[in-house]
Amino acid sequence: MGKLFVISGSSGVGKGTVIKEFLQRHPEFKLSVSCTTRSPREGEVHGINYFFLSKDEFKSCIDNNEFLEWAEFSGNMYGTQKDYVKTKLAEGKNLILEIDTQGALNVKKIMPDAQLIFILPPSLEELEARLRGRHTETEEAIKKRLQTVKSEMENSKHFDFQIVNDSIENAVVNLEKVML
Ligand code: 5GP
Repeated sequence: MGKLFVISGSSGVGKGTVIKEFLQRHPEFKLSVSCTTRSPREGEVHGINYFFLSKDEFKSCIDNNEFLEWAEFSGNMYGTQKDYVKTKLAEGKNLILEIDTQGALNVKKIMPDAQLIFILPPSLEELEARLRGRHTETEEAIKKRLQTVKSEMENSKHFDFQIVNDSIENAVVNLEKVML
């Protein structure tokens, strides 16, 4: 039986990069593929990045109780299928779910053995600087994002482990301590 890990963290924290680096070093781990109703971004492939479903398909999965958890963000739905997780764990794969904070806490309720890991920014100031450095968002959007991060950091208390992403190398080493 593989082990289940759930990794959350605020947007802009660089969790994607940390997870990618971890996976490169540890091929016995696999990133779970979620379902979503959002459209594929350039380069994204069905079955690799997400299972891209229509709204009707997604709704019928909800009705058939197929999701371990699901959530809606900015009009798009995201969910992790129970059967997918069960199959991968039975194959002996260590599975990583990269999902939002609330989704992570919902997984823990159903699968208490899952280890929840929260990736934190070194400080709110640094995160603010990173978000501004991207030059992709308005001042108002940045303020709103920082507010969300504050409440997510509050939620991180309910996670099993908190890892500060002060550098990718440190964060990966700390992930290894928790996951290997
Ligand atoms: P994106 O559209 O940028 O790929 O993802 C948006 C958000 O959806 C991210 O915060 C990501 O962690 C979250 N997400 C992706 N898959 C799932 C899922 O299966 N369940 C939940 N609750 N969130 C997910």
